[in-house]
Amino acid sequence: MAEAITEKWPVVGQSELDPEFHKVFLGLPGGEQLRSCIQCGTCSGSCPSALEMDHSPRKLMAMIRAGMKDEVLRSNTPWYCSSCYSCSVRCPRGISITDVMYLVKTMSLLEGQKVFTKTFTRLVLKYGRMHESGLMVRLNLRSPLKLVGYSPLGMKMFLKGKIRVFPKKAAAKDMQKLYAYAQRVSP
Ligand code: SF4
Ligand code: SF4
Repeated sequence: MAEAITEKWPVVGQSELDPEFHKVFLGLPGGEQLRSCIQCGTCSGSCPSALEMDHSPRKLMAMIRAGMKDEVLRSNTPWYCSSCYSCSVRCPRGISITDVMYLVKTMSLLEGQKVFTKTFTRLVLKYGRMHESGLMVRLNLRSPLKLVGYSPLGMKMFLKGKIRVFPKKAAAKDMQKLYAYAQRVSP
């Protein structure tokens, strides 16, 4: 399956490059091989899911090496990977692309959890309670289309009084004190 030559590369510089990013992958069995990728495209040509992916396996390898951490962790590529191992078996450099896909998935889940926790905490400290619609908007700022997809459900919940458009303040100051205390005493 040849890659379409018209496919677009993500814009470098949309977010900071992380020159250390690729080092995480070097810890995988045979991970050192990632450094020797020759961009031959055999992995993409062998991949049954490549057409569904926003970045082909070959591109993802290059993006990892370039330190495009945000773009890699946002990519749908590993989520379309069916772990068929065709790419790993055929790679002339012996790169375990399938294992790389698993690691990207794990990292993006952990990153998502971190973003969720940070956003949740900020809102609770600001308003003294959760503001669900604010949380949803903040978590999906980078993918406005997702927000549009959620809008029918959001509207139903709004009509049933389950979510508020504007936050209602509670004892935010007390919450901030409690949080500061927890920070001090936590190991
Ligand atoms: S098959 Fe291997 S060497 Fe070729 S582009 Fe894919 S990862 Fe790189
Ligand atoms: S293991 Fe994943 S990335 Fe590799 S060829 Fe199969 S589906 Fe594509």
